[in-house]
Amino acid sequence: MRKKKAIILDRDGVLIEDKDYSYKIEDLEILPGVIEGLKLLQTKFVFFIVTNQSGIGRGFYTVNDFLKYNNHLISELQGEGIRIEKTFYCPHLREDRCECRKPNPKYLFDIRDGWDIDLKLSWMIGDHPSDIEFGINGGCQTVYMSTGHGKKHLNELEELNIKPTFISSNFFHAAESILKLSS
Ligand SMILES: [Mg+2]
Ligand SMILES: [Zn+2]
Repeated sequence: MRKKKAIILDRDGVLIEDKDYSYKIEDLEILPGVIEGLKLLQTKFVFFIVTNQSGIGRGFYTVNDFLKYNNHLISELQGEGIRIEKTFYCPHLREDRCECRKPNPKYLFDIRDGWDIDLKLSWMIGDHPSDIEFGINGGCQTVYMSTGHGKKHLNELEELNIKPTFISSNFFHAAESILKLSS
């Protein structure tokens, strides 16, 4: 049987407004084009979220706060008929030098092995240079969103010579391009 293809999604600044360490449900705001874009993509891809949540390690919120907030997003998406297979999160600080913080590709390999995913035909979508490095480290194609923190880090991509497959400012447009490039 042919392997499945995945879209691996950063959460903050890609699916929802990045309000810096937010965990309160009333702050949760899905970004424009996300629902429509995911509906378009789910004909061909399965979805995962991979998110760095150092706010947990910093003590700004607990794992439980994170899970409640994230589950709220998952059920909002579910209400639109969109299924997220699983959310992977890193609760650590950069200084912890853990295995699971992006750009370390550990979670991509977990996704590959757990769901029989072909990473070469899969895409990582993120709004931070480390998301793109993460995707590249796992052999995925990548989209850099200039939403969220994407705008302010755009020049770092060049400085660090990190090359996404393409850059986009709208999730729906990104989804259309992914489909075009994947056919
Ligand atoms: Mg982000
Ligand atoms: Zn970690």
